[in-house]
Amino acid sequence: MSTSSPPAASSLPATRYRIAPHDPHAHLFEVSVTVAHPDATGQAFTLPTWIPGSYLVREFARHFVAVRAQCNGQAVAIAKTRKDTWHAAPCDGPLTVTAQVYAFDLSVRTAYLDANRGYFNGTAVFLCPVGREDAPCVVDIVAPAGAHDWQVATTLPLDGAKLHGFGTYRAANYDELIDHPVEMGVLATASFDAGGVPHDIAIAGRQHADVPRLARDFARICQWQIDFFGGAPFTRYLFQVLALPDGYGGLEHRNSTSLICRRDELPRAGEEAISDDYLNLLGLASHEYFHVWNVKRIKPAVFVPYDLTQENYTRQLWAFEGITSYYDDLVLLRCGLIDAPRYLELLARTITNVQRGPGRATQSIADSSFDAWIKFYRSDENTPNTVVSYYAKGSLVACLLDLELRRDGESSLDALMRALWQRFGRPGIGVPEDGIQKLASELAGRDLSGFFARYVEGVDELPLPAMLSDVGVDMTLRPTAGAKDRGGKPAAGPVDRCALGARIGGDQKLAHVFRDGAAARAGLSAGDVLVAIDGIRATSDAVAAVLTRGTPGTVVRVHAFRRDELITADITLAAAPSDTCVLTLAASPSADALARRQAWLGA
Ligand code: ZN
Repeated sequence: MSTSSPPAASSLPATRYRIAPHDPHAHLFEVSVTVAHPDATGQAFTLPTWIPGSYLVREFARHFVAVRAQCNGQAVAIAKTRKDTWHAAPCDGPLTVTAQVYAFDLSVRTAYLDANRGYFNGTAVFLCPVGREDAPCVVDIVAPAGAHDWQVATTLPLDGAKLHGFGTYRAANYDELIDHPVEMGVLATASFDAGGVPHDIAIAGRQHADVPRLARDFARICQWQIDFFGGAPFTRYLFQVLALPDGYGGLEHRNSTSLICRRDELPRAGEEAISDDYLNLLGLASHEYFHVWNVKRIKPAVFVPYDLTQENYTRQLWAFEGITSYYDDLVLLRCGLIDAPRYLELLARTITNVQRGPGRATQSIADSSFDAWIKFYRSDENTPNTVVSYYAKGSLVACLLDLELRRDGESSLDALMRALWQRFGRPGIGVPEDGIQKLASELAGRDLSGFFARYVEGVDELPLPAMLSDVGVDMTLRPTAGAKDRGGKPAAGPVDRCALGARIGGDQKLAHVFRDGAAARAGLSAGDVLVAIDGIRATSDAVAAVLTRGTPGTVVRVHAFRRDELITADITLAAAPSDTCVLTLAASPSADALARRQAWLGA
């Protein structure tokens, strides 16, 4: 919906919200909205259909039930006029619309309620009175019965509630109301200071984390980023963390982020080193925090304001997600949590991830940005063939752009980000679709339209080996050493000699079949379940043995089920592609390359 600015917020009477756990066992919140002076012709109420940061039409209204309206104790007729809009009949006001909202989604995007925990994004629960988007909002957050030890963690401004307590909060307008998710339950908390600004961590879910250490490490990340951009654009920040046995996700907000991690990714007491699991979580926190600037405040012009009723198209998501993905790990190096070899391991994994997706030859990262709504966010069995991740490849293009800008020692992506902040983010001006290319060319002192045409709008292979060599980093590619090999390290065992051209999921089902690969040429499809390979039951070990010991060109007979029908395919084994990347600091780079490497990686 439109959240266009003025008339001055104070001239409008406040919209009043109330949200209370209605039936935790049925996962129902009861949510009401009250308008003091409804429209004379009746009042419309609408719900966003997507949440900024996750580019998919999600139709949150499908979880609204039992919507009713009343005025001065009398029922008021209310009817739906669209999938996400209700219209209440005229009344003198105040008009209150109340709904029950089903909340049982363990993601960072919607809402959840059971007897132990509540969570919601405003986009999933708060109806917006149409025409009153700019009115100030007051929100009563009501405790569930008997939940004496529950706390509330949100960056909604307090309006009577005590910090971490139930009670009344406020927001300047609807746009602000829906950008401060609320976590409630028995929470593990920690606080730290970064840039002179208080930061909180609130962890939900059972865990045994070394929370003080988490706070220390998060503080380093936050301090570095605040220094990088020259100050914190908020007066308080909150990390909401949900620990689960399995899961991963994050969503950025202006003054907070919601993170989901595996319990094992939290640091444990007594551990000194940063495990790969913990590094994942640090990278996620760094990523969402970088979004405080890059996408929450430096944002595509089409997001100023968001239209939450429909898709908002931009070709720039690669910059907002890709550049953020580039910096998330780089910040861990810059703030001293990891060293350069560990950073290169992470970068090599990203290169491996991109190299393994044939879709990079079909779709550009600009096209992937534009079509996020129907492709990247709606992946299926064919996605690797036709879709490139504007996150992963976007981060490599960001790296390439950084190295391009650094080539003459004149500029860097750091300078570009600071310029974007000063020119667009700080004054609140949206970045036009060609804004980044123009600014990069300006900083480089030369026309970079060729770079953007090839790597952003086009699908040219990225010249990473040459560009990395220029900064004293050696890049090698080798075949994979098995299903668990994500790249970044020397092969732990024998590398594959052959490839099937398919990704095998659980129960030996083909999750993806790569276009023009050996399996596709033999007539196998995604969804086929391997039964036997070369006359042997097709266990993971049997398949691995064929790939590590076979010879390219050999024909191997495969039996598989397609639905319930047995099929036979003769696969001509292909040579295993060299798609697994390892990066190392060059042992004896030229003096120029070493100087550039030190400027880039400090090593
Ligand atoms: Zn992101």
